[in-house]
Amino acid sequence: METINHYVNGTTLECRSGRAHPVYNPATGEQAAEVGLAGVEEVDAAVASSRAAFEEWRHTSLAARTKLMHSFRNLVEANAAEIAERLTAEHGKVHADALGEVARGLENIEYACGIADLLKGSFNSQAATGVDVHTVRQPLGVVAGITPFNFPAMVPLWMIPNAVACGNTFVLKPSERDPSAPRFVAELFFEAGFPPGVLNVVNGDKVAVDRLLTHPDIAAVSFVGSTPIARYVHEAATASGKRVQALGGAKNHMVVLPDADIDLAADSAVSAAYGSAGERCMAVSVVVAVGDSADPLVDAIKVRMDKLRIGPGDDPDAEMGPLITREHRDRVAGYIGAGEAEGATVVVDGRHAAFDGDGFFLGVSLLDHVTADMSVYRDEIFGPVLCVVRSDSYREAVDLIAGNPWGNGAAIFTRDGGAARQFQLDADAGMVGINVPIPVPVAYHSFGGWKGSLFGDMHMYGPEGVRFFTKAKAITTRWPDPADSTVDLGFPRNR
Ligand code: NAD
Repeated sequence: METINHYVNGTTLECRSGRAHPVYNPATGEQAAEVGLAGVEEVDAAVASSRAAFEEWRHTSLAARTKLMHSFRNLVEANAAEIAERLTAEHGKVHADALGEVARGLENIEYACGIADLLKGSFNSQAATGVDVHTVRQPLGVVAGITPFNFPAMVPLWMIPNAVACGNTFVLKPSERDPSAPRFVAELFFEAGFPPGVLNVVNGDKVAVDRLLTHPDIAAVSFVGSTPIARYVHEAATASGKRVQALGGAKNHMVVLPDADIDLAADSAVSAAYGSAGERCMAVSVVVAVGDSADPLVDAIKVRMDKLRIGPGDDPDAEMGPLITREHRDRVAGYIGAGEAEGATVVVDGRHAAFDGDGFFLGVSLLDHVTADMSVYRDEIFGPVLCVVRSDSYREAVDLIAGNPWGNGAAIFTRDGGAARQFQLDADAGMVGINVPIPVPVAYHSFGGWKGSLFGDMHMYGPEGVRFFTKAKAITTRWPDPADSTVDLGFPRNR
């Protein structure tokens, strides 16, 4: 059985802890490999490598960094299909979804190709007589990224391009459940010509994470994962004096007003709820059907669900693949029964879908008449289960979103421009979609939720990513009096 090892100093570092985690092919249910879980010693080796690389890397010219970033971008684009195959093999998402993940990652590399412009400081001439003031942004040092299973290539690419383009060196701790794609991306990074140590990859679990959170040479931690771990990472790393951005879980609401285009809303709800088997932090998990929209909307969603093709991610006809593990599939299935017991109407029951083999498949589910006190509403299910909450008014829908402990994304479907504009102001969430169900911002805006969806001050990637990975330095300069100059300038002093 293949053991997936760490990647430190531009080469493979074998796992020495004696601990390993199984990596499955979720479509077959078989173990495909194992990944070594780092102990403190291996994390320390990765951090030491990044620490050693930092001094030279931080002084590498913007022109040279930009050139390397372009090469990396081209290699990721050229190898998109292979990255996507690895994503499908270990995560289970269908190939088209996996290619979409690579495309969103590429956007972030392209953004970082503009680092020369992004790192421009600011300047004031003559703040006092003969005195100028300017501000520059400098790298932090060695920064760490800890990433979740659901976007094993894209989320590391939310972090690495901006971090290294800003002059930092980076230690990545990817999810232990699907480590091959980030490992391959790291290989491409070095093929592009980046010096050893600028990026290191250590695989691991809590042991590795805890070492990164307290390591004295780690300046900042960028985390994406579930809310309880995000909260923990934020508390532990800030207590160690580090800068932290920790993105957590979600329960995204899609409000459908009575005037909405029901076909568009139903198409959007189905793709946003069941795409990638609902294992997306921006998945729609609650449809809030306002007034008369509810009955036609539930009917239209059900019709579409009946046609959805579920199968292995490498089957070109499949639109939804399996879940990440057997345990997670069973946990998600448990919510369907819980919702029913708590009084929801099960319109479509994914537990009844039959599949060949032992893959971690589950059919798609739709629960209607869900209320805010039910566990299916309160918990992040992270699977192909869509809840419909019926609401009497726009105001009730907005209040429901405000009362929810998460605030990643929120969407509204309506033809009314005034209502849509009001929703932009009212929605208690960090990212809002108007007739767009999954409002993931493009790479030149930043990504981040509110409330339990983000701990820290700065959002991920885009302009806030550049701010997160740099610290500002203001420099005040007094210039010599021109009267003292050996060159006759022909003007009085500092005029
Ligand atoms: P997770 O929190 O279980 O794991 C995330 C990372 O933390 C992994 O690298 C994992 O090894 C590590 N980790 C897990 N348990 C830990 C512990 N006890 N101590 C220290 N480290 C630990 O999340 P996941 O299941 O891999 O990913 C799914 C979750 O991520 C969902 O909640 C989803 O909403 C969230 N997510 C959020 C965003 C966002 O942008 N807000 C994006 C993607 C995923």
